[in-house]
Amino acid sequence: MLLTSMKRGVVRRWHQGRILFSMDAFLEFERELARKKQAKKPLEAPKTFRLEPPIKPKDDECCNSNCPNCILLVYQQQLMEYEDSLRWKSRELTKLTPEPVDISLTFASTSKALNEEKIISKNPLRTECLSVESNQELGTSSVHHIEVHLPQGYATGDNLVVHMFNDNQLIERCAKRLDVDLNTVLKIDKSSNVPELYIDHWITIETLLKWAFDLTSTLRPRLLRILASYATDLTEQQNILTLARNWSQDGDGLNIVDILETYPSITLPFTNFLAIAPLLPARQYSIASSSDCLNDTKKAALAVSTRARGRCAMYLAQESHRIYGYTTPSHFSTKLPLDSTPKVFIGAGTGIAPFRAFISTLSCQKKAVPKVALFQGCRSCESEWLYKEFFQNAFEISTQKNVLEHWFPAFSRDPNEPKKYVQDALLEQYALIGDYIVKEAGTVFICGSIPMGRNVKEALVKCIAKSQQWSHEDAKEYITRMQNEQRLISEVW
Ligand SMILES: Cc1cc2nc3c(=O)[nH]c(=O)nc-3n(C[C@H](O)[C@H](O)[C@H](O)COP(=O)(O)OP(=O)(O)OC[C@H]3O[C@@H](n4cnc5c(N)ncnc54)[C@H](O)[C@@H]3O)c2cc1C
Repeated sequence: MLLTSMKRGVVRRWHQGRILFSMDAFLEFERELARKKQAKKPLEAPKTFRLEPPIKPKDDECCNSNCPNCILLVYQQQLMEYEDSLRWKSRELTKLTPEPVDISLTFASTSKALNEEKIISKNPLRTECLSVESNQELGTSSVHHIEVHLPQGYATGDNLVVHMFNDNQLIERCAKRLDVDLNTVLKIDKSSNVPELYIDHWITIETLLKWAFDLTSTLRPRLLRILASYATDLTEQQNILTLARNWSQDGDGLNIVDILETYPSITLPFTNFLAIAPLLPARQYSIASSSDCLNDTKKAALAVSTRARGRCAMYLAQESHRIYGYTTPSHFSTKLPLDSTPKVFIGAGTGIAPFRAFISTLSCQKKAVPKVALFQGCRSCESEWLYKEFFQNAFEISTQKNVLEHWFPAFSRDPNEPKKYVQDALLEQYALIGDYIVKEAGTVFICGSIPMGRNVKEALVKCIAKSQQWSHEDAKEYITRMQNEQRLISEVW
């Protein structure tokens, strides 16, 4: 109970100020102060439950002698207890209960049954263990350039799908808390939470906990609220809800196992865990090298940004031995026509990666290559001008090989230059854009964040409208047509 302000001095203050305040107003004011302090702490069950209101003393009942057990002080204390009890009671009445879950499992009872099934899959993911050949930060940027050996090779423009996993200690803690044996074999028959690739496979609990669920990342508010509904202790339930309310990205970083251990009253059957636990989705990274001309066509480069200190990015930045993953075609794979029509490459941040690959491919072509204009969005000229030397080189040799005819870097956070985004650079070059993509029917490739992709498309419409003297609607229609004809291809995330 937070009645710190209700020490003797409070009553004395009232005694001194009674000419100005009514007793009711004064007591209410003091309770309000105590409530404000209380609101900052998680709601706790009151130490004294009082479900009947206390009897209010009459105005002349106080003797005005500053007694430590002043009748007003006692009344105030009891009133707080009464109000707290009512609040707690109303929460109890609205106690959360778990929602029904949509999952069905079959447990394999004996090893004989398993042998008969013969379909135990230890790793239902298509992952390969890939060795990391080098891993270094690019200059002072928060981007890591990572080279990975891909035994199966890859096609220029492909992405690498990276799978993370939880560490063994965490898996063991999780199994202990959920009271399951890691070697138990089961089959998930149906579930709306678990990804398709795990459905209908015999699989050990250990494999599931290692690859399918994110036991490591900070648990987000939605899942905290779901777990709160499994807590049988009301105080714990309220405390978990408070955690969810006060959640912040930079908070104390409790993962699902920490939460389960911290709140022992959470009664979560393993089946329900499978139905609600956060998933560990694979992440994709554009391959920044070309398989067309390198001596080692099985070495793929990645540019990974750790700016947001995300789970997979940090894992990749720190991993120097092996990662798990496989290649997958991107929207760009096999889309780089080597015909003579011009190409416009527009990339921001690590979205520049596939263009490094494309330009490598073009620079090792024996025949003439198309005209290329590269628009590169960077944060600042000093840091995060990704692959500056590589593009500089492609730009400088363009007089002989015509690899990179135009190169427009745009710096959005350079202390010495006005803020310029890649779409601003496009607008400045509207005449060139008009020539390349309308007059010469060229192709545009866009790679970067989703908002960047949207802004770039709007800028392209403006460039076309201005350069061709078309209406905005006609220019927009032209861009839509380009998209349908695969002459405007985006890879955004
Ligand atoms: C086609 C494509 C190409 C990409 N290329 C690059 C690149 O070249 N360089 C680069 O730095 N980044 C690239 N990304 C972004 C990258 O995949 C990650 O999203 C990024 O690194 C953040 O992940 P994280 O785990 O570090 O961050 P976190 O903050 O831990 O993850 C962010 C949240 O988003 C979810 N999430 C993140 N990525 C994915 C995903 N791929 N699928 C489903 N859910 C996801 C996670 O569940 C998590 O909740 C690309 C993304 C896509 C889709």
